[in-house]
Amino acid sequence: MGQDQRGFTLIEMLVVIVIIGVLSKMAIPSYTRAVDRAEVGACKANRRILSTAVATYYIDHSTCYKLDSAGNPTDQVVAISDLAEYVENAEAMKCPGGGDYTIVLTSGDGKVSDVVIRCDHEGHGDFRVFGTTE
Ligand SMILES: [Zn+2]
Repeated sequence: MGQDQRGFTLIEMLVVIVIIGVLSKMAIPSYTRAVDRAEVGACKANRRILSTAVATYYIDHSTCYKLDSAGNPTDQVVAISDLAEYVENAEAMKCPGGGDYTIVLTSGDGKVSDVVIRCDHEGHGDFRVFGTTE
C-alpha cells in the first residue's frame, strides 16, 4: 500500500487533451463562419442605410451625379462623402470586413442605369439602390 492514488495518469491527461483538440477543431471554423456572416450582414445594413441616402439625393437633384456650383450635373457620380446631409456619419460607415464603399452606376441597356453601392471586400458584392433613366 502507501501508493498515492490522487491526481491523473498520463493516459487520462492525453485523452483529455485529444478531446479538447477535437472539440476546438469543430468549434473554430463555425466561429469564423459566424463572424463572416455577421460582417456580411452588418455591411449589407450599412449599404441599405446609404442606399436610402442615395435615393433621397436622387429625389432632391433628379440625378446621381455630383452638381457643379451652378447646379448642373457633372460627369462624376456622387460619392459617399457627398451624402452628409442625408445620413448621419456617412463617412464613418465602414465595412466591418475592411472594404470601402463606392456608388456605382452600372449601365444597362441604352440609358437605363442600375445604381448600386459596392463593397470592395471579397464576397460582399453590390447592393442595388434602384434603376434610373439617365
Ligand atoms: Zn463589406
